[in-house]
Amino acid sequence: MNRKTRVRFAPSPTGPLHIGGVRTALYNYLYAKKRNGDFLLRIEDTDSHRFVPGAEEYILESLKWCGIVPDEGVGAGGPHAPYRQSERREIYRKYAEQLVASGHAYYAFDSAESLEAARSAAEASGQTFIYSSATRGAMRNSLTLSPEETQRLLRETEDWTIRFKMPVGRIVQMDDLIRGHVEINSDTLDDKVLWKRADCLPTYHLANIVDDHLMEITEVIRGEEWLPSLPLHYLLYEALGWQDTMPRFAHLPLLLKPVGNGKLSKRDGDKMGFPVFPLRWVSPEGEVSRGYREDGYFPEAFVNMLALLGWNPGTEQELFSLEELVQAFSLEKVSKSGAKFNPEKTKWFNREYLRKKSDAELAAAFMPVLEAQGVRATEAFVTKVVALIKERATFVSDFWDIAWYIFKAPENYDPKDAAKFWKDENPDRVRELAAFVQDFDGAFERDVIGPALEEYIRSREWPMGKVMNALRLALTGSGSGLGIADVAALIGKDEFLARVNRCLG
Ligand code: GLU
Repeated sequence: MNRKTRVRFAPSPTGPLHIGGVRTALYNYLYAKKRNGDFLLRIEDTDSHRFVPGAEEYILESLKWCGIVPDEGVGAGGPHAPYRQSERREIYRKYAEQLVASGHAYYAFDSAESLEAARSAAEASGQTFIYSSATRGAMRNSLTLSPEETQRLLRETEDWTIRFKMPVGRIVQMDDLIRGHVEINSDTLDDKVLWKRADCLPTYHLANIVDDHLMEITEVIRGEEWLPSLPLHYLLYEALGWQDTMPRFAHLPLLLKPVGNGKLSKRDGDKMGFPVFPLRWVSPEGEVSRGYREDGYFPEAFVNMLALLGWNPGTEQELFSLEELVQAFSLEKVSKSGAKFNPEKTKWFNREYLRKKSDAELAAAFMPVLEAQGVRATEAFVTKVVALIKERATFVSDFWDIAWYIFKAPENYDPKDAAKFWKDENPDRVRELAAFVQDFDGAFERDVIGPALEEYIRSREWPMGKVMNALRLALTGSGSGLGIADVAALIGKDEFLARVNRCLG
């Protein structure tokens, strides 16, 4: 059967979206676009205890910032609306009941206390309790109670659940597009809760399968942490009679810490000074987490970096536009093993993208920074400055640190540089240079004033480097930075003289 490719990103709004989640969304998007398919955004919010206000908005904004635009789903609408599971609650119950009727699920009436007691009893004998084929016969459920008692409890009580009846001794055979063939004995799996009477909501597993089926999803591409759920999902498709249209599955490798082992966590970011979230996030408790956007990353650089964390194009190419990624992407080239996050490489990507931007675009991005510094400059002038300094920057925000002295005179002089360069005859030499500049009637341009100053220094047989550094100190407040010719041309003759005279006192 030839079905249109339809994939989905199905986050739960339990907090800010981790960059691993953004990568999952990105791979789904690339996979869909390569096949002229649809990319859906579904919000899986059936676990009301883990719901965090603002998280859904955060997810939408993050995807938008990255340019990962859903064809269908929350925020986009579509033929399968609503796409927020909490708004689809009526849909799920019937499938849960259908599973009970067909013998694939059962009602469970165990109280929280009796489950706790079963857990403690197992622990006391060094075991772990799982609600499964081995233990369900000793629990309170529709398999052990009489039909009359079951009916009464269904009518009169409100905290029962519907559990999946895991088959006994089944070797579940699964295929994963990244991991290949996987097998597991169903006896190791528990009877997962599928539906809860208390909140009239399904759990993740049931809602996820029902929605993927109804939304005609063809491939499920998601994080490796869902691999353990795959056997249950296979069995659910089978039990619901949907195995013929069951999606294919691809479980993506984990994002790993830059050093050491394990999953990349917010703590790693805090420790090493990089964000693990696309955007800044303020938790409902007021805790602030930094984001790539606010740290000054370009979305294209961020997306490019993420794409290569776990996937490789099979060539040496590292810089890809989103469109190029769409063309190059394939699940076959996604690795099985985890991908180590590299904060330095992430910066490298930003530098590369910064260099690729036009001077005018960078100037426009720099203007607000200048305004915030109280500087007034024309965009044409700022464009000239940016052209000179962009090679030295990783972020637009670096521009100010690199070239602030083009926009305002230094108020202090670096004491170390002053001790080094503002000594001996140097102040007198700088005074002489100022007089030379005062009388200079050539154009005050980089390639005119620069060589003229050098020529003068050479004619006086002064040490070039030392004198230039002294002059730079007077002009910029420090002994290092942009070339004197560039500084002179940008600030102009009057400002040049004013700064030197001020330094001379
Ligand atoms: N709601 C799940 C999550 O938060 C989705 C898992 C899946 O894609 O099946 O990651």
